[in-house]
Formats: sequence, C-alpha cells, structure tokens
Amino acid sequence: MNKKVVIIGGGYGGLRAIEHLAMRADIDVTLIDKHHYHYLQTEAYGYIAGRFDLHDVVIDLQDWCSGFKKKVAFVNESALCVDFESQKVKICSGEIAYDYLIIATGAKTNFFSFIEGLREHSFGVKNLHRAHNFRVEFENLIYKKLQNEDDAQEINLAIGGAGLSGVEVAAEMANVVAVYKKTLGSRVNSIKIHLIDASKTILPGMSDFLIKSTHKRLESLGVNILTDAFIQKMDDTTIYFKNANPLQYHFMIFTGGIKASEFNETIDTQKNKISQFIPNEMLNIGGKKNVFAIGDCVEIRDAEQNILPPTAQTAERSAEYVADSIHKKIDKQPLKPFDAKVLGVFIALGGRWASGELFGFIKVKGYSAYLLKKAITYAYYIGLRLRINTGYKNRIKNP
Ligand SMILES: Cc1cc2nc3c(=O)[nH]c(=O)nc-3n(C[C@H](O)[C@H](O)[C@H](O)COP(=O)(O)OP(=O)(O)OC[C@H]3O[C@@H](n4cnc5c(N)ncnc54)[C@H](O)[C@@H]3O)c2cc1C
Repeated sequence: MNKKVVIIGGGYGGLRAIEHLAMRADIDVTLIDKHHYHYLQTEAYGYIAGRFDLHDVVIDLQDWCSGFKKKVAFVNESALCVDFESQKVKICSGEIAYDYLIIATGAKTNFFSFIEGLREHSFGVKNLHRAHNFRVEFENLIYKKLQNEDDAQEINLAIGGAGLSGVEVAAEMANVVAVYKKTLGSRVNSIKIHLIDASKTILPGMSDFLIKSTHKRLESLGVNILTDAFIQKMDDTTIYFKNANPLQYHFMIFTGGIKASEFNETIDTQKNKISQFIPNEMLNIGGKKNVFAIGDCVEIRDAEQNILPPTAQTAERSAEYVADSIHKKIDKQPLKPFDAKVLGVFIALGGRWASGELFGFIKVKGYSAYLLKKAITYAYYIGLRLRINTGYKNRIKNP
C-alpha cells in the first residue's frame, strides 16, 4: 500500500517538498492549505509598488497539484490540529490520515504588542490581502497627486524594519516614485519614503558588502534611512520614537519581525520566543513519530548553531532534506542530520538594480546582480507555470 504523506502549507517549503515526493510511485501526497493559492511573497515588493500584477505573485494550488496527475490531492481548508496518536490531521470537514506529516505553515508579521498602535495603524506584506490593500493605497495616492496639480503637501510613507523585505519594499516604492517624477512631473515629488529600523544599520546581521551597497542605492533613490530609531508608539497620524523627533506619516508597512503561524500554537512542544518549533537535527518536532517541520514555522540553525534568517531559500532546502529523509525512512535507510547553509542572498533594490552574494565570495551589484536575481526568480516561476499548465489541461479534460 502506498505511503500517505500529508503536507500542511503550500508555500515555498510545502511546494518544494511535494516536487521531491510526488516522483515516487509508492507515495501519495495530500496538500492542505487555507488559501487556494500559493503567494510568492518574495515578489511582494514589486506587487505593492505596482510593478508586478496579481498573476505574477499568485499560483492556483488546485491546478498546480493537478499537474502531478492524481499523485497529489489538494484540500483547501485550514488544518486545525493534529492527533499524533492516531496520525490524523483535523480539518473542519473531518480528518486526514498520514504516515508522514510535514508542517510548513510559515509565519506572519509580528506586530509587536509593546509598540502601542502598531497593529492598528500599519500594514504587513506577508499575506496577500494586506499587501493588496497597501498597493491600492499607494496607487490611489499617486492618482490623487496626478489629479490635484496644486497638491504640494508632503506625504510620508514609512517602512518599519530594514531587513530583507523592508529594504526591497522601500527601494521599489522609491524607484516607482522616481519613475513617476519623470512621466507625471513634480506632482509626485512630495511623496517621501522613510525606512526605519531600531538597529544600528540596515540589514542587521548581513555582510558589510550587502549593507553598504544597499545603503548607497537607497540613498540614491532618495529614501530617508532612519537607523537606531526605536518606534515607541504610533497613532493614525504620527510615529513616535524613543530617541528621535516624531514623524507625521500617511501610511506605514511593518516588516520588522515575524512570528510563526497560529497553527504552531496547537502543538504542545518546545518553541522559541517567536513561536517557531525547536526541532531536533532531523527537523523532527517533539519526538513525534514521522512528523517534520520546515521553513518559517521552525527555528533552523547552521553548523555553527547560528539561527538562519527565515527565507524562501531555507524553506526550500529544508523541504528537500525532509523529503529525502522520508524516502530514506520508507527504504529503511539511516537519516543524516540537516546541514543548513545559506548559499547566497540577492536583494532587489528598485528597477533593474540588485545587490547579491553567492557562496560568500562572489559579490555583485547593479544590473548584473539584477539579471542574476531575475534568473533565479524566473527559474522558480517557470517551474510553477509548467506544472500549472499541465494541471490546467488535466482539469479541463477531467472536470
Ligand atoms: C516582501 C518579502 C520579500 C522577501 N524576499 C525574499 C527573498 O528575496 N529571498 C528569500 O529567500 N526569501 C524572501 N522572503 C522570505 C520568504 O518569502 C519566506 O521565508 C518564505 O515564504 C517561507 O516559506 P514557507 O513555506 O515556510 O511559508 P509560506 O511561504 O509563508 O507558506 C505558508 C503556507 O501555509 C499556509 N498555512 C498557514 N497556516 C495554515 C493552516 N493552519 N492550515 C492550512 N494552511 C496554512 C499559508 O496559507 C501558506 O500558503 C521575503 C518575504 C517577504 C515578505
């Protein structure tokens, strides 16, 4: 009888795990996701700024799963909890039995409760709905500026958190404003982008090369960088800092931190401060039989025990590792510990400009880095598209 693998979460980790599992004839996969689409969060910066469209950042999960010709079933529901004794995942409409379970439920924006008003007055980008709201706000703002020729009132857009996603969003929005300046004239000059972080530098924890090249690029795009600026509270008009003058703002995106998805709360096992599971070196959680966690919902450390930043790359590497471990378990081979590494980082910094590092020693910036980043994204996207084309055809043939 075929082994049943259930995956909760159709993000970067979940989809990569499926690709590596569905190739085997003796495995059947079920994907559970509360959304019917895969959201390409890594492209959110371009969607918010109006550079990409919805179809560039969203892939239909039913059609994608149909691309595996009945090897992969899709259940569009929230996973509620797991009964580890009977090896079943509970969903609203019943339960789904598993031999192996992969939890890949990702993370959400951490609107820190110690910053008064943050949750009420800022947008996140980790879910499509919020990113879409922000895009609409941004577009409306530019539209209003266009219609109202005499409107010289300064508009401040704030981005809280200068990590990978914060700098990408700030750069892309600043680049759009710069482009609009050329086509729409001085009307949009009054839109200012402010990037705020409590750390001493932008991109805390990243290499000197990435910090310096990104800083220079953001400045050249006119982004006002406020580091060492700790947000104390905000209301609907003003951001108040612990150690700097208040900033009047129009709207704010918060990318300053993440927290594991609510699903983690349903499992009683060891977790860190941001609710990520703390797994063993095989990414098994809580010693539960045949249960693994991958991606943003789990704390992943490298060989030196440094916690790796939550990225799509780490989600995919952990997914490949866990899929391989499941192959090994079925074939009764011993498992090896997960050897987590960051192979490279590429940061999109507005228009055709990026900065990146590969294998720690190849350092690129500008148009060449943009081309490399584009190639990586394109390879990912085209893989999804090929699968979805097959799925779409299958669905039309067998509705
Ligand atoms: C603006 C931005 C830019 C980024 N840029 C980069 C980049 O350049 N490079 C990079 O490597 N990373 C980047 N990242 C980070 C990257 O997007 C995440 O690390 C990655 O999405 C994590 O993948 P995941 O599979 O763990 O989770 P996700 O992709 O978040 O997927 C989780 C899935 O689980 C589902 N889910 C959650 N709870 C349940 C439940 N109870 N039941 C059913 N389904 C559930 C969700 O609907 C979702 O589909 C960026 C992130 C942002 C926001």
